[in-house]
Parts: sequence; structure tokens; C-alpha cells
Amino acid sequence: MPARSEEIHHGEQEGLRFQLLTHPKSFIGDKDGRLKAVECVRMELGAPDESGRRRPVEVKGSEFCIDADVAIISIGNGANPLIPQTTPDIKVNKWGNITIDQDTGRTSKKGVFSGGDIVRGGATVILAMGDGRRAADSMHEYLTGGAW
Ligand SMILES: Cc1cc2nc3c(=O)[nH]c(=O)nc-3n(C[C@H](O)[C@H](O)[C@H](O)COP(=O)(O)OP(=O)(O)OC[C@H]3O[C@@H](n4cnc5c(N)ncnc54)[C@H](O)[C@@H]3O)c2cc1C
Repeated sequence: MPARSEEIHHGEQEGLRFQLLTHPKSFIGDKDGRLKAVECVRMELGAPDESGRRRPVEVKGSEFCIDADVAIISIGNGANPLIPQTTPDIKVNKWGNITIDQDTGRTSKKGVFSGGDIVRGGATVILAMGDGRRAADSMHEYLTGGAW
């Protein structure tokens, strides 16, 4: 679990119940299509692969259901594909992160600047704030007569 031990501890204090080595298989709806349960299956650690990592494998027949009326899927940290889909003149890299000029935050589209996670992938608040300040300086320069 990529979290600090105190975050796990505080989560438990606030009532989180971690289901470790558990894989969600399907959402089960009622007759109106509203969620009523999540079907899960227990996992166990299998044999190590070439890297030495033990991959989880399903425990056959261990399916069970958790009653639920809301499911929030919060897995992964990828770039939203909206930008390349709607604004193809803003260049993105193979992961969908916007490509910028590192010194100015300028994108490939005139008058558009960027920074933070959509440029860096998952990073930190302080880096995003720095990007914002740098981009603000560049915007000011551009709007007060600087050439693009
Ligand atoms: C679980 C988790 C824990 C983290 N913990 C830390 C930590 O402890 N310390 C740390 O430094 N960093 C942490 N980070 C990383 C940090 O949150 C990010 O690096 C930072 O928030 C990036 O800032 P940003 O402004 O680039 O993007 P965001 O904070 O993601 O801001 C982007 C904003 O754009 C909005 N948006 C998206 N699409 C649209 C649209 N089409 N129209 C209008 N608005 C839109 C979003 O709603 C959002 O408000 C954590 C991240 C996660 C996910």
C-alpha cells in the first residue's frame, strides 16, 4: 500500500476498513440499475516472478459481496484524455501529459501555458505551485508585448 503508516493509522481511526488482497470483480445493480453491492474475490500471493515480486492470484471460490450504494474508483493517476481529444494543437507526450517549454511554461499553442501534474504526471503541490508562478511571469511578459 503506497501510503505513510500514519495515513493508514488515521484512516483506520476515521473508520476505514481496508480489504487487503481483495479484488473487485463486478458491480451488482438493482432492477433500476442502482448499485447495491460490489462482488469481490480474495487473493493470495503467488510465486515470485523474474523481478522477485509475488503477484496476487485469485483464491478460487472465495467470491463475496459488499453491500454498497456508492462506489468511488480511485485507482491510477493518468492524464485526462480530454485535452488531446479536443485541442490537438496542444502537444502531449505518449502518456498524454502536455509538453511545455521548461523556462516559460508555454505550450505548443499560442497564448496557452501549462504546468503541474498535467505536465509532470503525478508530482507534488510545491512543484505545481512553482510552475504556476513561472507561467504567471511568462503570461505577464507575453501580454505586455513579448513575442511568442
Ligand atoms: C491521493 C494523493 C495524495 C497526494 N499527496 C500529496 C502530498 O502529500 N504532498 C504533495 O505535495 N502532493 C501530493 N499529491 C500530489 C498533488 O495533489 C498534486 O501534485 C497537485 O495537486 C498538482 O496540482 P495541479 O494544480 O497541477 O493539479 P490539480 O490539483 O489536480 O488541479 C487540477 C484542477 O483542474 C480541474 N479540472 C480538471 N479538468 C477540468 C476541466 N475540463 N475544466 C475545468 N477544470 C478542470 C480539477 O478539478 C482540479 O481542480 C497527492 C496526490 C494524490 C492523488
